[in-house]
Amino acid sequence: MPAKNPRCLYCERESQEVPLIKLQYQEEEYWICPQHLPILIHKPSQLADKLQGAERFAPGSHPDPEQDV
Ligand SMILES: [Zn+2]
Repeated sequence: MPAKNPRCLYCERESQEVPLIKLQYQEEEYWICPQHLPILIHKPSQLADKLQGAERFAPGSHPDPEQDV
């Protein structure tokens, strides 16, 4: 993914619209907005088509397993 125009890897909004948080993964840089950061933390498998291997990330532990992002 070329990082010329950083955009959220989930919603593809650019930093003109939303703040973006920079990620580094497998020597690549990715960006995600605060709205979608919880998906990376709690439901990483939803990002598997954007981040290779994301389905293998262990979701962050959460006291309430019923809670959805
Ligand atoms: Zn987003």
